[in-house]
Amino acid sequence: MTARPDPLASVIAPVLPPVIALALRPVPEPALPLTLPPPRVTPLPRPATLPTAPLRPASAMLLPDLAAILKGRLESPGELLTAPDPAALGAAILRQLRQAPEATGPGFRASQLGRCIRQLAFHHHGVRPDGREVDYRARATFALGDVTELLLVTALAEALATGAAPGWRLGEVRGAGGQGTVELALDVPTPRGGVRVVVPGHPDGILHGPGDLPGQPVALLEVKSTSSYGFTAWERSLRSGAGGWGPGDAYWWQLQAYLHSVGAAWGYVLALCKDSGAIAGWWQERDEGFPERLSRRLSQVVSSAGPHDVPREGPGGPIGPVERIGARGRPLKGHGDLPSFPCGYCAWYRPCWGPRLEERVSVDWRGRPSRALRLREETEGGEGA
Ligand code: SF4
Repeated sequence: MTARPDPLASVIAPVLPPVIALALRPVPEPALPLTLPPPRVTPLPRPATLPTAPLRPASAMLLPDLAAILKGRLESPGELLTAPDPAALGAAILRQLRQAPEATGPGFRASQLGRCIRQLAFHHHGVRPDGREVDYRARATFALGDVTELLLVTALAEALATGAAPGWRLGEVRGAGGQGTVELALDVPTPRGGVRVVVPGHPDGILHGPGDLPGQPVALLEVKSTSSYGFTAWERSLRSGAGGWGPGDAYWWQLQAYLHSVGAAWGYVLALCKDSGAIAGWWQERDEGFPERLSRRLSQVVSSAGPHDVPREGPGGPIGPVERIGARGRPLKGHGDLPSFPCGYCAWYRPCWGPRLEERVSVDWRGRPSRALRLREETEGGEGA
């Protein structure tokens, strides 16, 4: 890693307050890829007055505790200051009743970037889905998630409008009919030359704060509702100092795409536990190595002749069946099971795993039916993938 000196910093840093001077420190260059030329990203502004240096959330003056502010607003119902649009809130429910099936074909969306790359390839090559369908439980869950996320966004906008965090404001929020499109443009190298990939996305809100430049926000808001399992894992990561999401988390890819697309240095994640109503929040930094990492993943997809050319690989590493062989070489209970996430939720699990796939309905820890996938031992004919 080398550091790039910033000429502007050396001229004006001595006369700036400490927080801004820290923002002007040289920024580390991302490491070069091992096998592919570095991707070119546009726009990727590196504004001199944004905190691109490794500021930590301990800088409470610069980075307020928005989760605490939000909880205070939820506990103190009062006059609405931001004129939220009830129609936009209601649209989140109606969307589930009229939503068309997900279109497949070339192109990527920011919300998909953390998926298994073979799954991205099925989508990219326009393969007809043949796997997990969106059933009534999924639709109800999506609607509940959308509505509760909108509640949090709206409550945070209201809290900031009262001046709870001086200098901070939430704009372009979903509940106010906002949520505009942002785009990340990336030149992805392939053996046949570079391919321009444009990834659109919809952040939950733009956080305007001290350090904003015209057209260049200091931070973005991302709201997620999750199960107790996911929420506990994120809390554990925060407690350990690991910082919430990392490259092994699917949502990290979505948030980083948003941050790079608008040049924001920070994302604020608001997380809601669907089972308990608990709320957590944390600041997440823009990662300068993200474009290179993303380019490597997408390169495998856009270079492929079909999905089966692309490895089964999630953001956390390769995906495969459980291997549990006993001392005498006999398969033990659980041997061959496929991960319920992502494979059990994948719209292409049948073409992905082929004729060795076994599907059954099991009962989850709540006593509810749940899809379970298993791979039979290899027989003549191979796995068909
Ligand atoms: S079934 Fe699993 S490994 Fe295959 S594409 Fe889907 S998520 Fe990836």
